[in-house]
Amino acid sequence: MTDTFDLEHIWHPYTSMTHPLPTFKVKKAYGAMIELEDGRQLIDGMSSWWCAIHGYNNTALNQAVTDQLQNMSHIMFGGFTHDPAIDLAKLLLKICPPKLDKIFYADSGSVAVEVALKMAVQYWSARGRTEKSNFVTTRSGYHGDTWNAMSVCDPVTGMHQIFGKSLPNRFFVPAPSVGFYDEWDQADIAELERLLAAQHASIAALIIEPIVQGAGGMRFYHPEYLRQAKKLCEHYQVLIIFDEIATGFGRTGKLFAWEHAQVEPDIMCIGKALTGGYMTLSATLTTKHVAEVISQGEAGVFMHGPTFMANPLACAVALKSTELLLAQDWQTNIQRIAQQLNLHLAPLIQHDHVQDVRVLGAIGVVELSFNVDMKTLQQQFVDRGIWIRPFGKLVYVMPPYVITEAQLETLLIQLVDVVGSLQEVAA
Ligand SMILES: *Cc1c(COP(=O)(O)O)cnc(C)c1O
Repeated sequence: MTDTFDLEHIWHPYTSMTHPLPTFKVKKAYGAMIELEDGRQLIDGMSSWWCAIHGYNNTALNQAVTDQLQNMSHIMFGGFTHDPAIDLAKLLLKICPPKLDKIFYADSGSVAVEVALKMAVQYWSARGRTEKSNFVTTRSGYHGDTWNAMSVCDPVTGMHQIFGKSLPNRFFVPAPSVGFYDEWDQADIAELERLLAAQHASIAALIIEPIVQGAGGMRFYHPEYLRQAKKLCEHYQVLIIFDEIATGFGRTGKLFAWEHAQVEPDIMCIGKALTGGYMTLSATLTTKHVAEVISQGEAGVFMHGPTFMANPLACAVALKSTELLLAQDWQTNIQRIAQQLNLHLAPLIQHDHVQDVRVLGAIGVVELSFNVDMKTLQQQFVDRGIWIRPFGKLVYVMPPYVITEAQLETLLIQLVDVVGSLQEVAA
C-alpha cells in the first residue's frame, strides 16, 4: 500500500526518513469520507488536523475557489489590496473579540504565532521597554514548529533538548490542572502569579491556547484560569496572546474558545479551519492600541511581510467557509456531535488501561495509561474503515462537522472496539 518512491524520498510529519511509518495513498475525499487508492473508504475522524470542518470536496467551497481563479490566484500584497482580503477581514473582525480591530494575514499557523510574538516585542520596544522581550507560557502547550513558535511549545513533548541552546529560553509555568468541568481552585494560578511577580520586567507577553491545549496533550482547562491570567497580565503589564489556531470556528462549542471565559486577548492567532481546510492561511489580530503603539514606535512599521500574504484564493475560500459556518445552526450541530461522542466514549473509562475520557464540543479524547503503538493501531483503524491518528497516550477524534449521525456512530463503535481490546495487548 505504501508508495515506494514516497517511502524513499518524501518526508512525512514527525517521521524518520530511514524507518518511516507506513502511509496510505489517498485518491480522493468527499464529505466525511476518504477514499484510498485501492478503493477502501474511511470515515474521517480527524478533519485533517482540525481543518476540514465542512468536509472534503465541498461544492460551495469548490465554487469559491473556481470563481476566484477566474480573477487571479495571487497578487502581491505590498502596494495592492483586493476584495477577498477586505471582505474576509470585515467578517473576521465581526466575529473575533470586539477589542481586536486590526488584522495581519499570514500563510500558516506557525507564522501567525511568529507574527504575534514579534508584535508583542515591537509593542514594548516602541514604548521604550526593550527589556520586555521574553515570553511566558504554560507547559503542555503547542504553538507550531517554526523557531520561536517551537520555543513556547511544551519543553518535553516539544523536544527542546534536540535543539538545545539554539532555542531561546522561555518561562514555563505548569499546565492548568483544573479541568473544564471541575471546580475552580485558586491554587491553579499561583505559579503564574509567582512567575509574573518575579519576571514581569523581562516579559513581553503570555501566550496560551484558550481552554483547549491541543497537540500538547488534548487537555481542557477551566475558563477561570484565563480570567485570572488576564487580570495578572494587566497588573504586571504583560500582553496576552490567545492561540486559537486549533480552537477557532466552532470546534469547542463556541465560535472561538475565548468566549468560554469572556476574556479578550491583546493579540489572537487563527488558522487551520479558517479556510475549511482548503489551503493554508492564517491571521494575527490585534487591538487598535497595540497597532498604534507599534506604528508610532521608532521603526514606524510592523516588520513582517510574507510573500503569499493575503493570498486571494485562500481568502476567497476562507470567506466562503466562514459564511457557510455562520449560515447554519452550527451550535446545535456541535452539540449533536458532542452528545454522540459522550455516549460512545464515556463507557471506555471502565477499562483499566483507560485513564481519562473527555469531550468538549466536537472533540473527543481517550487518554490511555501507556503510549500506543501508532503503526499497529493506525492499521487496525484503517482495516475497520475509520481514519484516526493517535499520538502518545492519546486516541482522539475531531470529525468534520458534516459527519452524519450514522457515520459518527460507525466511527465510534469501531474506535471503542479497538481501544477497548487494547487491554489484552497491554497486559
Ligand atoms: C497547528 C497549530 C499551530 C501551527 O499551525 P501550522 O499551520 O501547522 O503552522 C499553532 N498553534 C496551534 C494551537 C495549533 O494547533
